[in-house]
Amino acid sequence: MAQSEPMATVERSAGITHEVVNQPPPLVDYNVFEADTVLVEAARREGAEWAEERIAALGAIAGSERIQALGAVANENPPKLRTHDRYGHRVDTVDFHPAWHELLGIAVEHELHALPWKEPGSGAHVARAAAFICMSQAEAGIGCPISMTYSVIPALRVQPELAAEWEPRLLSPNYDPRNAPAPEKSGALAGMGMTEKQGGSDVRANTTVARPVNGGGPGAEYELTGHKWFMSAPQCDAFLVLAQADGGISCFLFPRWTPDGERNRFRLQRLKDKLGNRSNASSEIEFDAASAWLVGEEGDGVRTIIEMVNHTRLDCTIGGAAGMRAGVAQAIHHTSHRAAFGNELIDQPLMRNVLADLCIESEAATISALRLARAYDEAIAGDGEAQSLKRIANAVLKYWICKRAPAHAGEALECFGGNGYVEESGMPRLYRESPLNSIWEGSGNVQCLDVLRAMVKSPASVDAFFAEVDEGAAAEPRLAAFSKKLREGFPGDVETIQVRARRVVEQMALAIQASLLVRYGDPAIADAFCASRLDGDWGRAFGTLPPGTDFTRIIERHRVAV
Ligand SMILES: Cc1cc2nc3c(=O)[nH]c(=O)nc-3n(C[C@H](O)[C@H](O)[C@H](O)COP(=O)(O)OP(=O)(O)OC[C@H]3O[C@@H](n4cnc5c(N)ncnc54)[C@H](O)[C@@H]3O)c2cc1C
Repeated sequence: MAQSEPMATVERSAGITHEVVNQPPPLVDYNVFEADTVLVEAARREGAEWAEERIAALGAIAGSERIQALGAVANENPPKLRTHDRYGHRVDTVDFHPAWHELLGIAVEHELHALPWKEPGSGAHVARAAAFICMSQAEAGIGCPISMTYSVIPALRVQPELAAEWEPRLLSPNYDPRNAPAPEKSGALAGMGMTEKQGGSDVRANTTVARPVNGGGPGAEYELTGHKWFMSAPQCDAFLVLAQADGGISCFLFPRWTPDGERNRFRLQRLKDKLGNRSNASSEIEFDAASAWLVGEEGDGVRTIIEMVNHTRLDCTIGGAAGMRAGVAQAIHHTSHRAAFGNELIDQPLMRNVLADLCIESEAATISALRLARAYDEAIAGDGEAQSLKRIANAVLKYWICKRAPAHAGEALECFGGNGYVEESGMPRLYRESPLNSIWEGSGNVQCLDVLRAMVKSPASVDAFFAEVDEGAAAEPRLAAFSKKLREGFPGDVETIQVRARRVVEQMALAIQASLLVRYGDPAIADAFCASRLDGDWGRAFGTLPPGTDFTRIIERHRVAV
């Protein structure tokens, strides 16, 4: 614009009668890893320092303007079911927008589906978790097939000959979306089919039947007849599914193509019209004497597939933390560039309280999710205490972090005012995605009941949990008092334990998050967390921290510096 030309004239020529002011620039083109102090610190602390360059490389991609835009495009152009080809042959596949393929290709190339199995060792799960948090901020939908492919490996290893055949394909860094037999492809992805119409949490109610083709037994071929009511990413090359064999509910590997190169006998009935997660396909499927191979013993299906579920549950927790980080980054950015009543929003005392409260929740989620990922690394290395901690903390943190995510996303959205309710801000997408992690892989109540089960069947997990809490309690009297009360109440009145389960699990989550914040978080954040979440100096909505809180320090720690 020429110096002498008044702005209003230029805007008018663009069909606008006024100068556009007080509207923030988009938050794009920044490294979502390097700009996240909390995540960088946690990744280092929990053993993933060696992977920092790799995570940062992905962080730059995920935060780039182009890749951020692809996430939106993939949601605006949801997958389409294609049941037949043009000649009338059944194909039962799904057509995705190129944006989806590019995003999923990036995740596979960066080995979010494979890293801890290809490079096991200190910090492997932590490095992957940090990278997953980065990529989820570009688009969460691709996390579904990525998570299932990563999680299928430990369950598949129960049947070594099936693992030997499939692992090299599933760990490949090549994304090959073709609908072709897996041996002809340069890489494969895996899914999971447990949920049926009559029950998802209660998988023992499954009615899909498995009949042995030739005597049956571990690793042998069966034919599956029945359905799955939810089966996400149905374009995958293979799935672990549950079905009733003579010996009871059993786990099977169901490939898209049979070993002789024929289409397996299944039909995709519909794709779900979902609240969020719209870039990803979730299907209803019928098995019509489909070929599948038994993984483990007949009757051991739940025990076998739970190995997979334990890993997808970890990803729900990590995904919840990723959503909160995205919300905090966006909310701080918007309020830094928007003024009302004569001041930037971020300088308004009440807005500072809201932002700081969101930051605290996000930091607690990130550091506890990465601590949990370290327990996975340590458990694999044979550390019994880590195994015990993982057993109970997985359900505790999945429950609480996923439960907090929708409230957090709603409040972050509100920081934008009306702009936050409008699609192009990206906040509606974040908000719609936010309840899903709590439903997936065992909904909130199911997680709480699992914590009760761990208490009964694995008392060592309770000891490991409190050992972790006590490390922080030694330095923080409020946590010491909170933890003492919690422990004294264990298990309390057995008659009412289920009724009280949510309250107990919530308190456990707060205790472990406080312990981590006290030891490793910023002192201002640890103090505000203990004052609000443990000591009760807090309201029922975000933005109700006590007046003495160091709001500036908390917000600045979470600000994206671009
Ligand atoms: C987008 C999407 C994708 C999905 N993809 C897949 C997939 O790929 N593969 C797959 O197998 N499944 C998938 N699911 C299914 C999902 O895992 C189930 O919906 C979930 O486990 C809950 O099961 P349900 O829907 O049968 O609900 P129900 O089991 O009917 O549960 C309903 C409610 O009751 C609660 N509840 C259950 N039992 C108890 C109890 N004893 N006490 C108190 N409360 C209880 C639950 O917590 C829940 O809140 C998907 C779901 C969604 C939404």
